[in-house]
Amino acid sequence: MSHNTTPTTPKIDDFPCAWCGLTVSAYAADGARRNHCPSCLHSRHVLDHVEGGPGDCRGRMSPIAVAVPRTGGWQVIHRCVRCDELTSTPVCADDNQLVLMRMAVRPLAQPPFPLEAFGTL
Ligand SMILES: [Zn+2]
Ligand SMILES: [Zn+2]
Repeated sequence: MSHNTTPTTPKIDDFPCAWCGLTVSAYAADGARRNHCPSCLHSRHVLDHVEGGPGDCRGRMSPIAVAVPRTGGWQVIHRCVRCDELTSTPVCADDNQLVLMRMAVRPLAQPPFPLEAFGTL
């Protein structure tokens, strides 16, 4: 008979949002792992998914943009305010859609060149 020493799964279900203080469940309703706040989309720089990684600077990560990779689906681009590292994270179903849309249209609202040029095409 083998000695059963299965460690109990550490309870890391909740974490406080570094920005708005909301208690965030680490798992979304559909069971997906969540690392950012569904309300303000801020995250914390913890690279616990990279074994022996240089991460865990625990800086606050601001959502700066959304990106759509070739595989489809929205990704939130986060930048660490402490070490400037960029990360991308899949959007969760219950993420704040207003914040997502605001990030998505921001480049269009503040173009680096006059949009009137397109009107004459
Ligand atoms: Zn938050
Ligand atoms: Zn960092």
